[in-house]
Amino acid sequence: MERTRQQVGIYLRHYRLQISQVIKKIKLAASSCELCDGQCEHFSRLCHHCFNDLPIFSLDIVQGNLLNWPAINKALPKYQFDKLFCLAPYLWPFDLWITQLKYHSRFELAPLLAQLLVEHWLLALEKNLVRQVEAIIAVPIHITRWQERGFNQSHLLAKKIAMSLELPYLSTALIRNKATEQQVGKTGGQRRKSLKNAFKLSPNQASLPKHIMLIDDVITTGSTANEITQLLKKNGVQTVTLMTVCLTLP
Ligand SMILES: [Zn+2]
Repeated sequence: MERTRQQVGIYLRHYRLQISQVIKKIKLAASSCELCDGQCEHFSRLCHHCFNDLPIFSLDIVQGNLLNWPAINKALPKYQFDKLFCLAPYLWPFDLWITQLKYHSRFELAPLLAQLLVEHWLLALEKNLVRQVEAIIAVPIHITRWQERGFNQSHLLAKKIAMSLELPYLSTALIRNKATEQQVGKTGGQRRKSLKNAFKLSPNQASLPKHIMLIDDVITTGSTANEITQLLKKNGVQTVTLMTVCLTLP
């Protein structure tokens, strides 16, 4: 009886996997490339020609951590996080995609950006340039901003990334308790001041894992990530890897 139940379980998992692969193929066949309208084979909304043209950071040059790059290390003084893993500089088409996702509610771009990040991360893992983390946290936005915008783009990315990497997503661990104004145009010092005590841990959050990946869409001065990293490290976290789609230096 027990054996029959196990066999049924194996068959069900097998068929579920096959069905999800068929659905993926149908979705890919139905989607066309964002940039050239060509046919997509691997990424939804991106063909392999346009993928090869993307301005993605070379893993071999940055060795899986942009803080290894002297110009970036110098531009982000006093960083608190341990590693910085970005996909690309804030250049076309990433600047366009992030603007469309953030300000024009093009949610369908989140799975594409998440998939690009995940594959870049898996390649870095394979090359032993990065270490696996234990859980994922997204940079939260304040509840009033969430209500205005209706969504948090970092949450959309983090949810997909956690699912693909089969890691727990601690979606409610962090709370933004200060509605900070737009950070664009502010200096590092002004950002740090306005972000002081902007975050807290949820009272319902049990102890945190030691190695966390923090997700944001873009890093500029690193002030937000620094503030969160300090809070996480005060609460038992040992390493924070900041993962963002883009890097734009102030
Ligand atoms: Zn294309």
